[in-house]
Amino acid sequence: MASRIKFFEQVNRGFDKAAQFTDHPRGLLRQIKACNSVYHFSFPLKRDNGEIQVIDAWRAEHSQHKRPVKGGVRYSMSVNEDEVMALAASMTYKCALVNVPYGGAKGGVKISRHKYSTTELERITRRYTFELARKNFIGPGTDVLAPDYGTGPQEMAWMVDTFNAISEDDLNNLACVTAKPVSQGGVRGRMEATGRGVYFGIREACDESAMMKKLNLSTGLGDKRVIVQGLGNVGYHAAKFMQEGGATIVGLSEYEGGIYNPEGLDVDEVVRHRREHESIFDFPGAENVATSAEILEYPCDILIPAALQNQITRENAPNIQAGIIGEAANGPLTADAHEIMHERNVLVLPDFFLNSGGVTVSYFEWLKNLSHVRYGRLQKRFEESSNARIVQSIERLTGQQLSPEERSVVIHGPDEEDLVNSGLEETMIEAFHELHETQQKHSEGMDLRTAAFIVSIDKIATSYRELGIFP
Ligand code: NAD
Repeated sequence: MASRIKFFEQVNRGFDKAAQFTDHPRGLLRQIKACNSVYHFSFPLKRDNGEIQVIDAWRAEHSQHKRPVKGGVRYSMSVNEDEVMALAASMTYKCALVNVPYGGAKGGVKISRHKYSTTELERITRRYTFELARKNFIGPGTDVLAPDYGTGPQEMAWMVDTFNAISEDDLNNLACVTAKPVSQGGVRGRMEATGRGVYFGIREACDESAMMKKLNLSTGLGDKRVIVQGLGNVGYHAAKFMQEGGATIVGLSEYEGGIYNPEGLDVDEVVRHRREHESIFDFPGAENVATSAEILEYPCDILIPAALQNQITRENAPNIQAGIIGEAANGPLTADAHEIMHERNVLVLPDFFLNSGGVTVSYFEWLKNLSHVRYGRLQKRFEESSNARIVQSIERLTGQQLSPEERSVVIHGPDEEDLVNSGLEETMIEAFHELHETQQKHSEGMDLRTAAFIVSIDKIATSYRELGIFP
């Protein structure tokens, strides 16, 4: 069922619904919505056993109203033109919403990465990068790549190395890809950024007393039961930060199925168990849930789908028991499911708000690469010295002494990770309040997804107007 749903159409339905609440000319709205370019190519891969396989790959650039365009690269058998166009469009709206100055893009390679050896994955990734470079679909000022489903820092390191090898010598080449390993120009905190942002976004919503009252839930995370679907980069970190933030993780799932324990699950213990047993099943004290789809319907307060799109459709939407759904994955709810959830008074935190932590910290990494200096390098020691002088003065005036532990907390100057995390937290808080205010300005009954689209459309429309293209 899920594979028959046209993903780009689903995104556009959300756009059209929100566009009615704006007064932008129709031509401008059509331009914002259109996907500007899609590059589909194929190339041969010589497998380790000598067999030749033809690999299909794409890169979609949805909007160049800001340059460069930016977006991840997905390795999955679900990749096709419709999927990359939909994901590129989501990137455009996401970047606008969180004031990251990029247009949206997305790439994909149609493979199941588990079926390939590391050397085969390296050959695929390098060839993919080479083909993009030939057509100007990668570069620090044109199109900046990042990880997505099925890719991570290793693929990013291969990409930047390939780009460097075939491009003119340019000081800024490192900025053609983000989420690189720190030793290859990455920024500390990028790995966890999307999951951390998911946590910040949900925490903000749960602190809104009027919102929680409408859902018949108390404020805060303390008494919230959480189910997370997908334990990859986004799902694992989201679950971990939710647990650290005081919520109880009652359900976790991977592609083979799920586990549920109303008393709570320890995220790291589950990950360790799955690594050791090569399956999530039979975790001590937990009930096995046969499929990952079934666990979505189990009792919880917050449901976080963090795997793939179209997981909650009109078929299963009526059975979801959660009061809050945090869209950590891109497009986990279809447009129909959004409508059903809204009618059922379920709060949905939309994907292009909730998972924007990744692109936000990628932006910080890109800026670091262009400025060629690590965050905190210039001010850390200076701030620590001035904090120490302030502490000494207060101690002298009061005659009281701080303990060594208290002193080191107060004196601590910000390093790269502190600055990245606080920049991310600020971005998520600001974005949440902007879309919440937009929702309230239009009507209490408006869903947050529509409010988020309105904010994004208005910002993109302003950019086009400033370019002088539209009146
Ligand atoms: P990932 O490859 O690191 O993890 C995905 C996980 O989902 C894998 O562990 C996979 O085994 C699991 N999975 C696959 N099918 C499943 C199923 N049916 N049920 C449960 N688990 C299943 O990918 P990721 O980077 O975590 O991306 C996940 C989602 O988040 C995608 O929709 C992606 O577009 C979105 N996203 C990722 C980032 C990022 O920074 N990585 C940023 C924004 C959005």
